[in-house]
Amino acid sequence: MNIQPDFLLENTFGLTSLAQWGCSIEQIDDVLAAQDFAAENDLSMTCLGAGSNVILPPQLSGLVCCMRIDGINVLEETTDSVLLEVGAGVTWHKLVMDSLKQGWFGLENLALIPGSVGAAPVQNIGAYGVEVGQFISAINILDGQQELRQVAQSDCQFAYRWSIFKTQPDWIIVSVVMRLSKLPRIEASYPELQSYLHDLSKAEPTPQDVAECVIALRNSKLPNPSEFANVGSFFKNPVVSEAVGFAMREQGFKSFVHGESHKLSAAQLIDRAGWKGIRHGDVGCWPQQPLVIVNYGSANRTDILSFAEDVALSVQEQYQIQLELEPSVLL
Ligand SMILES: Cc1cc2nc3c(=O)[nH]c(=O)nc-3n(C[C@H](O)[C@H](O)[C@H](O)COP(=O)(O)OP(=O)(O)OC[C@H]3O[C@@H](n4cnc5c(N)ncnc54)[C@H](O)[C@@H]3O)c2cc1C
Repeated sequence: MNIQPDFLLENTFGLTSLAQWGCSIEQIDDVLAAQDFAAENDLSMTCLGAGSNVILPPQLSGLVCCMRIDGINVLEETTDSVLLEVGAGVTWHKLVMDSLKQGWFGLENLALIPGSVGAAPVQNIGAYGVEVGQFISAINILDGQQELRQVAQSDCQFAYRWSIFKTQPDWIIVSVVMRLSKLPRIEASYPELQSYLHDLSKAEPTPQDVAECVIALRNSKLPNPSEFANVGSFFKNPVVSEAVGFAMREQGFKSFVHGESHKLSAAQLIDRAGWKGIRHGDVGCWPQQPLVIVNYGSANRTDILSFAEDVALSVQEQYQIQLELEPSVLL
């Protein structure tokens, strides 16, 4: 493994960022070597996948490990399900499509989400009524003491855009153990997905149909990061009390029951606050999905964060709802 100084970091926001030290992690031994190097040189360590959910600074101090551990291995197979161990560096969308081809179902609603398998549990990626935590049996990590440990699903604290991994910066996820179904049951409760599948006029839509619908829906609404740099949703959907949820409904906002609370649509709040399609210089809210902030060219991190602050402030002033950033801002 080659640990290099001034290491250029991959990210989907078009930000130029150099790590003080950086390396590619292809196997577990590389993590151990990186941890030794960080300890010997008194460096902090950060692990990144594809950089599709981070806002990077121009210079990132410490050692950055770019996770590239590959491999999709079957641990156990029954007539109904399969247990997989997937390398943290596998591309998430590749896992979704490869699983479908094998007849392993469940992940189809999460098609086309950018990034790596290792990052997926960190914010418990979710879309179209499904979250990755539903399929995870355990996560294999190397902790700060260089111990290889398995975190059981029940200890992951999966919640909306949340997991225990957000609180453990020393843990490096090396592989994810997932159970997928061999029964082609679909989850189509999400209204947009339901109406899209309805239009196909098929008696029994398949998981492949769901993946195709999800891909088409995402392509129609979301900017492709290779053309318009972005990190997906910039803000989380606000979780509010039941009373606030009902009050917002009276003002014509969507409010979904979320456990004992209500969840509002951040996109709708930003839209109603007048930000849809608004652009300041090279930063703007995407016209088809205002929750996505786009770097149209040479915007830097300060431009992006100050635009986002203006959006959040305007929603706060108009609706007294606080928006929280979804991507991690690295210092
Ligand atoms: C166009 C677009 C659409 C998106 N749509 C969705 C969506 O529908 N739903 C959704 O939930 N997200 C979505 N995202 C966000 C993003 O794709 C996910 O959060 C994804 O899981 C990030 O993967 P990554 O490999 O790029 O992680 P990175 O951005 O590299 O890292 C994200 C965080 O995870 C940590 N991390 C990464 N790898 C590891 C590891 N191996 N061990 C420990 N920590 C690690 C990093 O330190 C960082 O804090 C979207 C992003 C884009 C650009």
